[in-house]
Amino acid sequence: MNAIVDLPVEQQHRVGKNIPIYKERGQREVFCGLTGIIWLHRKIQDAFFLVVGSRTCAHLIQSAAGVMIFAEPRFATAIIDDRDLAGIADANDELDRVVKTLLTRRPDIKMLFLVGSCPSEVIKLDLSRAAQRLSTELINQCRILSYSGSGIETTFTQGEDACLASLVQASPKQAEVIEKNLLVVGCLPDVVEDQFHRLFTELGIHNVSFFPPKNSAQKPEIHSNTQYLLAQPFLAETARLIEERGGQRISAPFPFGVDGTTAWLKAAATSFGIDPTHFETVTQSKIERAKKSIERYLPMLTNKRISFFPDSQLEIPLARFLSQECGMQVLEIGTPYLHKQHLECELELLPENTRIVEGQDVEKQLDRCRSDKPDIVVCGLGLANPLEAEGITTKWSIELVFSPVHGYEQAADLAELFARPLNRSMKLAA
Ligand code: SF4
Repeated sequence: MNAIVDLPVEQQHRVGKNIPIYKERGQREVFCGLTGIIWLHRKIQDAFFLVVGSRTCAHLIQSAAGVMIFAEPRFATAIIDDRDLAGIADANDELDRVVKTLLTRRPDIKMLFLVGSCPSEVIKLDLSRAAQRLSTELINQCRILSYSGSGIETTFTQGEDACLASLVQASPKQAEVIEKNLLVVGCLPDVVEDQFHRLFTELGIHNVSFFPPKNSAQKPEIHSNTQYLLAQPFLAETARLIEERGGQRISAPFPFGVDGTTAWLKAAATSFGIDPTHFETVTQSKIERAKKSIERYLPMLTNKRISFFPDSQLEIPLARFLSQECGMQVLEIGTPYLHKQHLECELELLPENTRIVEGQDVEKQLDRCRSDKPDIVVCGLGLANPLEAEGITTKWSIELVFSPVHGYEQAADLAELFARPLNRSMKLAA
């Protein structure tokens, strides 16, 4: 059986080295955007995320964050109950009451996100109006913003995109500024952010800021002299809003692995007129060190076959890293959405015969996976256990969003995240 016989080829979507992108529609297996709260609340350190949702939403957040115990948690769920659903209680009054109680008890909260969910959308609770109303009332106490983390037709990393988009919209518009600035867009662990900051400084790019900021008082600097560099490939709406304010995207691969990081930094250096010799001087020793540290995982990864199920939207840059730098054979890259402009540099670097599938029809993809027999599958939590039960080694895609994996110093850790499950399976088989 030809594993891809059912996939409709859309000629107009041929990309890069004439790679066709197949589109698939059907049942999907992904988490919703509420999941993003787990890493967003760690990044913006004085923000609070109030999910306006059901008990299911509360369970999702609690179990996703179950390993973390906080004395003062920075996320919670305002439960929409039967009275709200039946229209007996005014959901807006109830929400105002919950927000005021929360802010009275927790005056340290300086920014509050009202996070929409499937239930709040079903009862048509307008959270953007609620945020405006409460912001006016509580103007000296707290900034109140809103975004949707709903699971309808979305995937989990879109929660970060929606959150950052709301922050761009709420930031004051700036008049034209003469000094050019670099804005690095996308949540990065603090340790990675600090490493990149040092690298940009060494390169001679000084006017750099990271978005989202660590503190709600810091506003992003976006104007017609802003060059922005995406650190994550799933920020389509945030990028669109930054461009609406005059920011220009620096086109680059994403900073995964040594080559990805070098190309990403190089694109910024070129845009800021940094001398290529100086660039080499700054990066050379870091490149050598990172390549050396990846080497120890190559025996486990080289020539191993890998398939990606659509989940995190990191699939294409990760597949590029694993094929280009680790010698893995990529059988299928499933991705929930594919932003062709943001990923154009990545697509150019993929091997010629790569099969890319945008969207999902989970049963068909499982059939292709069983037919392909990959050595390892990258997928969501819901598929990992059944696949492991069938003897297929898996890697949870969500772990790749939580873990520090960007940049030179994390390149070997990224390789290890794929080598470890392969190693474990090999030992179990032995
Ligand atoms: Fe489920 Fe929707 Fe709540 Fe997500 S937002 S937990 S998909 S009900």
